[in-house]
Amino acid sequence: MDNHDSKTRSYNMSKIRSSDTKPEQIVRKYLFSKGLRYRKNVRNLPGCPDIVLKKYNTVVFVNGCFWHKHEGCSKFVWPSSNENYWKKKILGNVKRDEENYAKLRDLGWNIVTVWECELKKPVREQTLSNLYIKIISQRRD
Ligand SMILES: [Zn+2]
Repeated sequence: MDNHDSKTRSYNMSKIRSSDTKPEQIVRKYLFSKGLRYRKNVRNLPGCPDIVLKKYNTVVFVNGCFWHKHEGCSKFVWPSSNENYWKKKILGNVKRDEENYAKLRDLGWNIVTVWECELKKPVREQTLSNLYIKIISQRRD
């Protein structure tokens, strides 16, 4: 097999594994503990949002800093080999994210993005309480 195939395969495998990754679990557990109820990995919405809170009109994406190119983040560094391959892959992800967010906004959803690095221990509590506030402020009664 050539290099490209093995890279594609490991990418696909990481996509499969990522359906219930640790950062997502941290966020879901927290929201649940705060009494919020949600659906996860909702495939009939653009981008298959990780968490959907219908009552609050809000979708949450928990994004890996590398795969979704977190600007200015120390966890995002272009790989030094196969540059063209990674450029195409990562920039493709970013473009798809932007398209999905635009579609969701058109459908009237409020979008909150949580980055993996924001869930590191020293900043986790702050990130989660900010997220909670952003969600409950969207409640329409
Ligand atoms: Zn980051």
